[in-house]
Amino acid sequence: MKVTTTEFIKGIRGTDPLCYDGVAQVAFVGRSNVGKSSMINAITNNRSLVKVSNRPGKTTEINYFLINKKFYLVDLPGYGYARVTPKEKEKLQKLIIWYLSTSDIKLKKVVLIIDSRIGITEFDRHMILILQEQAHPYVVVANKIDKLSKRELVGQLQKITAAATGGQVVACSAIKRIGVDELVKTLFV
Ligand code: GDP
Repeated sequence: MKVTTTEFIKGIRGTDPLCYDGVAQVAFVGRSNVGKSSMINAITNNRSLVKVSNRPGKTTEINYFLINKKFYLVDLPGYGYARVTPKEKEKLQKLIIWYLSTSDIKLKKVVLIIDSRIGITEFDRHMILILQEQAHPYVVVANKIDKLSKRELVGQLQKITAAATGGQVVACSAIKRIGVDELVKTLFV
């Protein structure tokens, strides 16, 4: 399936009727700077979709986009965002954890984006535990593979696959558009 239409719906900071309206939700989560915005723009064939909603406060909200008038693409705040205070950081982490661990919110898929050079961090592991507890299907996207040599990539993918503990791993580059179409096929079907 191809993404043909994308529409920004709303940013939320807590519970909202959108979360429970029956539309399938595909959520994107990841540490800041892993390329989550770039990946969402690559998936939706839109160079500035995430930027479009980049009004003040955007990075502290859960942003809902409607894809092909059929699915929600849910962009969670990046965690570990450098430009926020420790208190704000804690608030963001709580918001992410609330969204992923509220059992009434039915998630079709969670896309955990990581930097393939760095691998799975402590907070990523925490995310994976929540996803497993909630039985949410998830895929780990190892982004920025264009920055690795073939040999490095093999080694990193081995480690990432082990730490993903059962989640599917897709090697990608948002910038070079590697693996993006493969990823789309697993998300919006
Ligand atoms: P976010 O904070 O996770 O939303 O990350 P951004 O999408 O803003 O990307 C952070 C930085 O990483 C930017 O400078 C991007 O151009 C860069 N970036 C994102 N994806 C890739 C990729 O696949 N390869 C490379 N080399 N750089 C990337």
